[in-house]
Amino acid sequence: MEDHIEVAGVEVDRERGVTITFGDGLVAEFDLMSLRLACPCATCRSLRDKEEEVWPQPSSPQPLRITGADLYGAWGLNVTWNDGHATGIYPFDALRNWAEGKRP
Ligand SMILES: [Zn+2]
Repeated sequence: MEDHIEVAGVEVDRERGVTITFGDGLVAEFDLMSLRLACPCATCRSLRDKEEEVWPQPSSPQPLRITGADLYGAWGLNVTWNDGHATGIYPFDALRNWAEGKRP
Protein backbone atom coordinates (compact mmCIF):
# COMPACT_ATOMS: atom_id res chain seq x y z
CA MET A 1 0.00 0.00 0.00
CA GLU A 2 1.18 3.47 -0.89
CA ASP A 3 0.57 5.02 2.49
CA HIS A 4 2.14 2.27 4.57
CA ILE A 5 3.97 4.00 7.39
CA GLU A 6 7.49 2.83 8.10
CA VAL A 7 8.57 2.93 11.71
CA ALA A 8 12.25 2.89 12.56
CA GLY A 9 11.91 2.82 16.32
CA VAL A 10 9.48 2.86 19.22
CA GLU A 11 10.56 4.00 22.66
CA VAL A 12 8.23 3.60 25.61
CA ASP A 13 8.74 5.60 28.78
CA ARG A 14 6.20 4.14 31.16
CA GLU A 15 5.87 7.35 33.14
CA ARG A 16 5.96 9.87 30.33
CA GLY A 17 4.82 8.57 27.01
CA VAL A 18 5.84 7.05 23.73
CA THR A 19 8.37 8.31 21.22
CA ILE A 20 8.17 7.02 17.68
CA THR A 21 10.83 7.46 15.03
CA PHE A 22 9.33 7.12 11.58
CA GLY A 23 11.20 5.69 8.64
CA ASP A 24 11.66 9.11 7.07
CA GLY A 25 13.31 10.46 10.21
CA LEU A 26 10.38 12.25 11.81
CA VAL A 27 10.45 11.80 15.57
CA ALA A 28 7.14 12.21 17.37
CA GLU A 29 6.46 12.21 21.09
CA PHE A 30 3.09 11.32 22.51
CA ASP A 31 2.43 12.00 26.16
CA LEU A 32 0.65 9.47 28.36
CA MET A 33 -2.49 11.46 28.94
CA SER A 34 -3.04 12.34 25.31
CA LEU A 35 -2.56 8.72 24.30
CA ARG A 36 -4.92 7.45 26.95
CA LEU A 37 -7.60 9.99 26.08
CA ALA A 38 -7.27 9.10 22.40
CA CYS A 39 -7.43 5.35 22.99
CA PRO A 40 -8.75 3.92 19.73
CA CYS A 41 -10.55 0.91 21.21
CA ALA A 42 -14.30 0.46 20.81
CA THR A 43 -15.02 1.06 24.49
CA CYS A 44 -13.21 4.38 24.62
CA ARG A 45 -14.59 5.39 21.28
CA SER A 46 -18.14 4.91 22.49
CA LEU A 47 -17.38 6.86 25.67
CA ARG A 48 -16.06 9.73 23.58
CA ASP A 49 -19.12 9.53 21.36
CA LYS A 50 -21.20 10.07 24.49
CA GLU A 51 -18.84 12.92 25.43
CA GLU A 52 -17.75 11.07 28.54
CA GLU A 53 -14.20 11.01 29.80
CA VAL A 54 -12.32 7.84 28.92
CA TRP A 55 -9.89 8.54 31.75
CA PRO A 56 -9.82 8.77 34.69
CA GLN A 57 -12.52 6.37 35.72
CA PRO A 58 -13.42 6.22 39.45
CA SER A 59 -11.25 3.11 39.77
CA SER A 60 -8.28 4.49 37.84
CA PRO A 61 -4.99 4.40 39.70
CA GLN A 62 -3.16 7.73 39.70
CA PRO A 63 -0.90 8.74 38.20
CA LEU A 64 -1.45 7.24 34.80
CA ARG A 65 1.28 4.86 33.68
CA ILE A 66 1.99 2.43 30.90
CA THR A 67 2.61 -1.08 32.16
CA GLY A 68 3.38 -2.66 28.82
CA ALA A 69 3.58 -2.00 25.11
CA ASP A 70 3.84 -4.44 22.27
CA LEU A 71 4.07 -4.06 18.56
CA TYR A 72 0.91 -5.18 16.86
CA GLY A 73 2.20 -6.60 13.62
CA ALA A 74 3.91 -3.90 11.59
CA TRP A 75 1.11 -1.43 11.81
CA GLY A 76 0.42 -0.52 15.37
CA LEU A 77 1.28 -0.40 19.03
CA ASN A 78 -0.79 -2.18 21.67
CA VAL A 79 -0.52 -0.33 24.97
CA THR A 80 -1.41 -1.72 28.40
CA TRP A 81 -2.23 0.89 31.04
CA ASN A 82 -1.96 0.66 34.80
CA ASP A 83 -5.74 0.62 35.11
CA GLY A 84 -5.68 -2.70 33.28
CA HIS A 85 -6.93 -1.23 30.03
CA ALA A 86 -5.21 -3.03 27.17
CA THR A 87 -7.61 -3.05 24.25
CA GLY A 88 -6.23 0.00 22.51
CA ILE A 89 -4.11 -0.55 19.44
CA TYR A 90 -2.65 2.68 18.11
CA PRO A 91 -2.11 2.38 14.36
CA PHE A 92 1.15 3.99 13.26
CA ASP A 93 -0.54 5.78 10.39
CA ALA A 94 -2.95 7.42 12.84
CA LEU A 95 -0.07 8.39 15.11
CA ARG A 96 1.72 9.82 12.12
CA ASN A 97 -1.30 11.91 11.20
CA TRP A 98 -1.55 12.99 14.80
CA ALA A 99 2.13 13.99 14.81
CA GLU A 100 1.43 16.12 11.78
CA GLY A 101 -1.32 17.92 13.61
CA LYS A 102 -4.30 15.88 12.55
CA ARG A 103 -6.04 14.45 15.58
CA PRO A 104 -7.00 10.79 15.31
ZN1 LIG B 1 -9.68 2.13 25.17
